[in-house]
Amino acid sequence: MTTSSSSSRTFPLCASCGAALASRESRCGACGAPHANPAPRAELIEDARWGRLDARFGCTGCGALSPVNHLELDGAVSCAQCGAEQPFDLRVWSGVLEWAHDVVSLSAVDPAVRDARPESPLGRDNPYSNVGVTVADRSREQPNVVAGHGPLRVRISPGHPLCPRCGRPWTYGAEAPGRMTLGCPRCSLQSTYQLPTEPSGLYPAVAIVVASPYRSDLAHAKTQIGAGGVASVTCSNCGAPLEVKSGETTVVCSHCQAQSLISSKLWFRLGVSEPRVEPMWLLFAGLSQRRRQLENTNIDPLEEELRARALAVVESGQGGSLSSVGVPLLLAVVAIGVIVYFLAVR
Ligand SMILES: [Zn+2]
Ligand SMILES: [Zn+2]
Ligand SMILES: [Zn+2]
Ligand SMILES: [Zn+2]
Repeated sequence: MTTSSSSSRTFPLCASCGAALASRESRCGACGAPHANPAPRAELIEDARWGRLDARFGCTGCGALSPVNHLELDGAVSCAQCGAEQPFDLRVWSGVLEWAHDVVSLSAVDPAVRDARPESPLGRDNPYSNVGVTVADRSREQPNVVAGHGPLRVRISPGHPLCPRCGRPWTYGAEAPGRMTLGCPRCSLQSTYQLPTEPSGLYPAVAIVVASPYRSDLAHAKTQIGAGGVASVTCSNCGAPLEVKSGETTVVCSHCQAQSLISSKLWFRLGVSEPRVEPMWLLFAGLSQRRRQLENTNIDPLEEELRARALAVVESGQGGSLSSVGVPLLLAVVAIGVIVYFLAVR
């Protein structure tokens, strides 16, 4: 069944978390769930890649790994375990997002990567070719991100976000730059996300970040901080008290059934004992620069043309013969052509 040409443009997902399955494993490397049979499948999109990003920071107050449920952009994070607020170096995101884009662009869920000839640059120099085969994700730790020496730990897997109600892969459509509605083809659940303007400045390829704090179709629960810093939250629609138990980021009101957002910064004050890591889904527009470079070092029509032009210039100047001066000149002109080409591609 998996050998037909139509199924090669789809890839299997973990039914629990949406991460792409590593074909040689029996459990999801991202969430630990056993592979479902049949597994849901996502369409491989030609000019975009989804990535499931799990991020936590090391709290310098209590040592806990506290969840980072969206791209923290205000320069401070609060530990969900001990409540300590600490400075967060948001410049870390551009490097993290570029790396994540590389992993999802170079993973083996793409047949062009999986079937790359071993002697080609894409087959030989790709550090992420085992993602989707023997591992589901890659992880990275960035030191000195929080309060001087606390690290940021991130894991990224290729995959596709799933409807939280019925598990079907979401369909989606961009509505405006940084704004997108995801919908379920089976149960018609919908969520709309709106990025603050900053993420595109951190890393321009990020088209959307699917994370609860960016839901634009939900209102935040109303918060009151009482004696001793203990918070209480009430429904954004009817004002009834909400009960937040296990680190949910959205809570349904038992009175009016409206959904309200709960900020993770409130969890400590709400007495949540097990803060939940809610991975973000990022949609990257296009393939990463590294992927394009590894592909373009194969014979590329534009690069070939640049080489041919460089050669023609040298030959016309040197009367068609390559003297001892001509060879370095040829190399220099070719190098300039390649640099100009890569600048143009960016
Ligand atoms: Zn999973
Ligand atoms: Zn802490
Ligand atoms: Zn659904
Ligand atoms: Zn309500």
